[in-house]
Amino acid sequence: MTIKAVLFDMGNTLVKYDVDIFEEVYDRILTSLGISRSIDEIKRAFEKTEEEAKKNGLLSSFGKIACEEFWHCWDSLILKHLNITEKEELAGTIQSKWFDFLESTLYPEVREVLSELRNRQVKVGLISTAYEEEIHLLMKKIGLEKTTFDVIVGVDTIKKAKPDPAVFKYAINQLNVAPEETMFVGDKIEADYKGAKNAGLHALLINRSENPPKELTIIGNLTEILTRIG
Ligand SMILES: [Mg+2]
Repeated sequence: MTIKAVLFDMGNTLVKYDVDIFEEVYDRILTSLGISRSIDEIKRAFEKTEEEAKKNGLLSSFGKIACEEFWHCWDSLILKHLNITEKEELAGTIQSKWFDFLESTLYPEVREVLSELRNRQVKVGLISTAYEEEIHLLMKKIGLEKTTFDVIVGVDTIKKAKPDPAVFKYAINQLNVAPEETMFVGDKIEADYKGAKNAGLHALLINRSENPPKELTIIGNLTEILTRIG
């Protein structure tokens, strides 16, 4: 197979976070503000927020309304379910502090793999279910140049999210490559692996745990891409 482009998911594929669940980031921010809530209380608030956001249409507006507006509404709901007053101001504070309290690093092999792909004249792209401005903020924070990727697709780029095939098709159209010439690598079965396959791309599921499921095409480390693309 001749692969002319490799597209990557961001979180848990290229970028490692120092938390397992985002509730922990909330915990850190609230603690820094002198507000004490247990992680279980925060988890429950997340569940209630998700339920309410489904009902009131906020969840389906993700990627369709402005980044700041979405997160302001989301954080206001979380604070409401944590019984915290003064939600307006606090919601803004949480948003502005988010990436200060979420430690993010590139997995160790990322730079080498990206530069080897460049050497082989393979195009590289990023498809993430984050807003474009969040992607750029994170890239800046971890020291990735804007020119690292030939295409960056966020949830607001065409206002659709993985696994919608339109997202993958948009990326390959931008790169002027065919689906069968493109490899997608991500860590989520439905959004990444199946989403890419449904759009006609080759897909690799990355699973860095010691006991990955066996039935799918799985890699444990991004360097394995290099042997698979010929
Ligand atoms: Mg991911």
